[in-house]
Amino acid sequence: MSKPAITIPSVDEVLRSSAGSAVSARFGHSATTAAIRSALDDLRALARGGRVGSQPGGDATRAEVANGIAIKAGENLDAADVPRLRRVINLTGTVLHTNLGRAVLAEAAITAAVAAMRAPAALEYDLATGGRGERDDIVRGLICELTGAESAIVVNNNAAAVLLVLNTLALGRESIVSRGELIEIGGAFRMPDIMARAGTRLREVGTTNRTHPKDYAGALGPDTALVLKVHTSNYVVQGFTKEVGTDELVSIAHAKGVPVVDDLGSGTLVDLSVYGLKRERTVQDALADGADLVTFSGDKLLGGPQTGFIVGRKDLVEACARNPIKRAVRLDKVRLAALEATLKLYRDPDSLAAKLPTLRALARPAAEIRASAERLKPQVEAVVGAAFEVAVCDCASQIGSGALPLETLPSAGLSIAPKGRKHIGRQLDALAAAMRRLPVPVIGRLEKGGLVLDLRCLEDEALLLSQLGKVAIGPLETEEPVA
Ligand SMILES: *Cc1c(COP(=O)(O)O)cnc(C)c1O
Repeated sequence: MSKPAITIPSVDEVLRSSAGSAVSARFGHSATTAAIRSALDDLRALARGGRVGSQPGGDATRAEVANGIAIKAGENLDAADVPRLRRVINLTGTVLHTNLGRAVLAEAAITAAVAAMRAPAALEYDLATGGRGERDDIVRGLICELTGAESAIVVNNNAAAVLLVLNTLALGRESIVSRGELIEIGGAFRMPDIMARAGTRLREVGTTNRTHPKDYAGALGPDTALVLKVHTSNYVVQGFTKEVGTDELVSIAHAKGVPVVDDLGSGTLVDLSVYGLKRERTVQDALADGADLVTFSGDKLLGGPQTGFIVGRKDLVEACARNPIKRAVRLDKVRLAALEATLKLYRDPDSLAAKLPTLRALARPAAEIRASAERLKPQVEAVVGAAFEVAVCDCASQIGSGALPLETLPSAGLSIAPKGRKHIGRQLDALAAAMRRLPVPVIGRLEKGGLVLDLRCLEDEALLLSQLGKVAIGPLETEEPVA
């Protein structure tokens, strides 16, 4: 043998190396020891495979080898330390992307949430009397002020709100729903399943496309607990259709003393037409139509933290609050703080679009987005390399989360397409994957022939550029085509 085989250092030697003590100071003794053990195991496996003796390391001193192993262990610990919940840049064109966490919170909400995390808070404590308080009191007044509701409570999300309402008002009895409204929202929220778990019997009326007042009237009986109206959210029945509006439903149901529950889904508090969008029925509309209870989400159009609202008649809201299930689905102090701050922004509608990121993104004019695309184009061209063509393109953004599903918002973006004609799909997949591997992953939308970055939701151009500068798609240009 021309070179002596490396004698593998001990865990202790690696720990005592200069890199070893630095890693240990960062990650602690036990995590560092474990990482060193595993790096040494890897090295031994390589040595058994005969792949170590001839390495450049063969000339290294024992101390240098120990240091190198500590550096490797540190890198592994660093990699394992990256949060699993990663920040991303949403360039999908869907503003309220459920898989990307829906609404981005307003600065005021973030500040309030951080403050609530940092110190004790009077969550269920009445500072005036020193006695016990109620967490829903924190936002009840504000919700009633904004919606005109008599009372309100908040829970984990809208699915929980619907579950709680049905279980409270209709346990062991019938709930009437139009067949055309028995929806499935992504992620396994299916109305018939929720109703079954809430313990209410589903009484379907009408047909998929048409439901008439007489269908409801004919189904109302002594066993009817409530009539449920569901916003069809993520789909639309078009053509020969008929649905019964909440106002008409209320007069039919109230004649028999039966309450009407309106599940609005998105639940906006403002007239979206003010911001150039199609008008979506508001919470105030549903209450004005006479709905006894209205349920909606906090992290859809409202632009706040994940929440479910139950607003409306005081006696019914109180019944929901007394249900033991309420405890299982209540909001924590962090989200309550963020929610209160978000709702307060609605007191000043004139500054809402500036302060609420969801509305800011939805109301952003296409010309402004296009200007951003023009600005970014040369720099993006430079970073993706010669194999790709970058073009400013028109896009159609979506609101997302089931709000106005057929409505698209004119937008603009960058389309990145391979210049060659071969293996376009594979090259695009590789490009999209490279973007997802960035320290702050960039999520675009793959379309025919190109990766489209819809810039509607991009507020920080510098961040995007700093990330794209690290994109590693070079090998593609020389990669051999697969057979
Ligand atoms: C989104 C939605 C739900 C579920 O709300 P989450 O806040 O996601 O739990 C329920 N009903 C309708 C009509 C919806 O659009």
